[in-house]
Amino acid sequence: MTTGRILPPPSGEPCLLTPGPLTTAHSVKEAMLRDWGSWDGDFRAMTARLRRELLQIAEDDGSLDCVPMQGSGTFCVEAMLGSLIPHDGRTLVLSNGAYGQRMAAILARMGRAHVVLDKGDYLPPRGAQVAQILARDTTITDVAVVHCETSSGILNPLREISDAARAAGRRLWIDSMSAFGALPLTPAEITFEGFVSSANKCIEGVPGFGFVIARKEALARARGNAHSLSLDLHDQWDYMNRTGQWRFTPPTHVVAAFLRALKLHREEGGVKARAARYAHNRDVLVAGMRALGFETLLSEAWLSPIIVTFFAPAHPAFDFQRFYDLMKQQGFIIYPGKLTRANSFRIGCIGQVDAHVMRQVTRAAAEALAAMGVPSGAPSPEALQERKRLSDCERSEEQISTH
Ligand SMILES: *Cc1c(COP(=O)(O)O)cnc(C)c1O
Repeated sequence: MTTGRILPPPSGEPCLLTPGPLTTAHSVKEAMLRDWGSWDGDFRAMTARLRRELLQIAEDDGSLDCVPMQGSGTFCVEAMLGSLIPHDGRTLVLSNGAYGQRMAAILARMGRAHVVLDKGDYLPPRGAQVAQILARDTTITDVAVVHCETSSGILNPLREISDAARAAGRRLWIDSMSAFGALPLTPAEITFEGFVSSANKCIEGVPGFGFVIARKEALARARGNAHSLSLDLHDQWDYMNRTGQWRFTPPTHVVAAFLRALKLHREEGGVKARAARYAHNRDVLVAGMRALGFETLLSEAWLSPIIVTFFAPAHPAFDFQRFYDLMKQQGFIIYPGKLTRANSFRIGCIGQVDAHVMRQVTRAAAEALAAMGVPSGAPSPEALQERKRLSDCERSEEQISTH
């Protein structure tokens, strides 16, 4: 691990403890200080390299291809679902947070048949349940799941879900936005049709495009299937393969920055090393916050090395906006909660940050609590009880809704 190489952002620039955009290396920002012609051979070579290197990270067995797409990550999720799931498909969306809900909203907006298994905020969809649903409902053709649900930080059990889908002969689509590059996702381990990630998450680039890594067969059979011209993944793939170019204006500087980020990813030691750094960040963060009385939303088993949700302290003097401002004054941008029920906030473990930074973060949190007159970060007993109740019960009657 080369954590010693991580430099703090220049003074005045806050450290982003958010799940993208995140704190990037200076050399990544520096890579954007020139211009490229989108049709020029130099840039076409950059696009080819980007696709090749991403396929290497995915440990492509020859069955996959990589299609970058302009826009934020959601554009890519929409491009994948809309282009690659056939019109007569019916998709089971496994939802346990905002990004699962977003996939369902995308399918709803496109008028595509789908079913939602809603696990709330605390629980992962388990393989056995997925198998049960697929056995019961033979009209389901596809399954969609979020790898790391960034709204809580929960790490979903991809392997058992993929096993269930494969055993039942259904296609699997994965939103691996906040996981790819730091958590393994390879065809040798996980059977999937396609997955999505973006430039500004675990590869540590700047925002501006996402990419779909999908089976070539799925891309090939998708001609004319997309609901949208600009988000037609088949067209983008086909055109890129024929011309080496993006169909419409590419985010040239973002691609240049991304190639630099890929180089840093490789030099750090690839997925394994990045996973280890992020996990260490999380461990230092969680230990430091617990020492202040804070508690995590999720039980240990489901905590991801990507982002951690903490319950808001119960003390009446705690005010999130004030806490946020006090953290910012000390150089750290944290993230509000994104839960439907519990009052919470999030701290990301990804980006150019290391254990040293995480220790500073917990010191800053201690300062912020002291400034607010909050003696402890402890959540309310009710919040903890709710967590216990929900994680204890593997409810037999799941909330399944059909659309
Ligand atoms: C970041 C993220 C997205 C995409 O969000 P955008 O704001 O569109 O970039 C989708 N899914 C997950 C799990 C994410 O973390």
